[in-house]
Amino acid sequence: MVSRVIPVDPFDLVIFGGTGDLARRKILPGLFRRFCAGQMPDDARIIGAARSDMDDAGYRDMVRKAIVEFAGKLACEDGTMNGFLDKLHYVPIDARGEAGWADLAKLVRGDVIRAYYFSVGPGLFGDLAERLTKHGLTDDTVRIVVEKPFGRDLASAKALNRDLAAHFDESQIYRIDHYLGKETVQNLMAVRFGNMLFEPLWNSQYIDHIQITVAETVGVGGRGGYYDKSGAMRDMVQNHLMQLLCLIAMEPPSKFDPDAVRDEKLKVIRALDPVDHHHIVRGQYGAGPDGADYRTDAENPRSFTESFIAMRLHISNWRWAGTPFYLRTGKRMKARSSEITVVFKDAPHSIFDAEAGRHRNMLSIQLQPNEGMTLDVTIKEPGPGGMRLVDVPLDMTFADALGPDAEEVPDAYERLIMDVIRGNQTLFMRGDEVEAAWAWTDPVIAEWEARNDVPKPYDPGSTGPDDALMLMHRDGRRWRDIRT
Ligand code: NAP
Repeated sequence: MVSRVIPVDPFDLVIFGGTGDLARRKILPGLFRRFCAGQMPDDARIIGAARSDMDDAGYRDMVRKAIVEFAGKLACEDGTMNGFLDKLHYVPIDARGEAGWADLAKLVRGDVIRAYYFSVGPGLFGDLAERLTKHGLTDDTVRIVVEKPFGRDLASAKALNRDLAAHFDESQIYRIDHYLGKETVQNLMAVRFGNMLFEPLWNSQYIDHIQITVAETVGVGGRGGYYDKSGAMRDMVQNHLMQLLCLIAMEPPSKFDPDAVRDEKLKVIRALDPVDHHHIVRGQYGAGPDGADYRTDAENPRSFTESFIAMRLHISNWRWAGTPFYLRTGKRMKARSSEITVVFKDAPHSIFDAEAGRHRNMLSIQLQPNEGMTLDVTIKEPGPGGMRLVDVPLDMTFADALGPDAEEVPDAYERLIMDVIRGNQTLFMRGDEVEAAWAWTDPVIAEWEARNDVPKPYDPGSTGPDDALMLMHRDGRRWRDIRT
């Protein structure tokens, strides 16, 4: 099966922060892959903008190195690199000053799609928006892309939304959560709403509980200072895990259209119960073989910031009353794995005797490291010896399903940037969604800050603190193993 490439219209994409880590690791290699896939029109241009003094040639050289380092295995002929690099330009610019803006205004064309990627810290969003307007670089057709973190609480998120709204309509703002760009996440919607099989069962009558795990093996070293002011709740739960929760729990939208989908996601966030602190476990990793613990990595010997969090949530609506959602995410865990598991209830009555065992259907959706889905179905164990039951997975791993073309599945950033150019906001967060997520998150954080809550230590390479296991054990459930 070959992935279908739908070409986009000519565009100018300006990447503010075009020399930064995100641009070099994700945005530019992603654009290169789209170029190789034939999705980029001849008339596309990519303009890097940052304070560093560089010309086009210097920028192309920087991008060439970034692509070699980060673009991975490419279905691209030798020599194609130059074709891509020819599309690149660079303008030295200061978001907070006037230097460079007139040059940018000369370069950017008014008769093609214009997109401005704010790949800079959120402290510069307002400055960029203001100067783009002042220098005549905007109208109601331009699109802007903003990165996480979108605020650190409700007040700061509202302030960012206000800064952007002063210059752009909501329909022009693309707030990235790269989890939404993953193939499997979109497949979640296809599976739920494209099949008759699942949706009738997708409620508390048939689903016992749902687990969402996002586990990383890396610690916070390298970005410890930033992370220590944030923690797992702000860095992962408020955005990525919340978005996954919304997609798994939302009502069917009337159509696959940006506002219809985002309206339904918003309803999920608004229906979330406040979470009781007895249903939250915060953790902080201890020393690994290298001797570095969280506090060393974060360069804060008295830090109470969590590098792990597990929680039990409830959604107060008809569909989900009585079905708990267990979320957990952490750093320095035993494996890198992001997975959503839908655990169905036991059959109401077993016609088999006790030796047949207790079996449950489970739909598990893997987001990383490999994307795919498995559905555990109970069957008879083959062979003589009576009715013994066994769970076998129906495996829908994309790499197997797509064969060699699995490499061609675009990564999340590629897909999302192309969606910006196409003007499709479905996989981007709307301002009210982000605010609703913070409105739910803020009191949880305020509560543990008021109690001076101390995170529980856990061993690097483990599944987190024992209390996180207990969170499920006391409900008679258990986490699915974290595996690659
Ligand atoms: P970074 O490596 O520090 O890069 C920042 C970029 O902004 C550089 O190109 C820098 O270049 C430019 N810049 C800084 N001040 C500027 C100014 N006054 N005017 C114009 N340009 C300026 O940061 P990053 O890791 O790429 O992150 C960028 C944004 O993406 C941040 O909001 C971050 O939270 C978010 N993000 C990053 C990642 C990631 O994996 N890196 C993941 C998710 C979200 P000069 O110094 O030359 O000006």
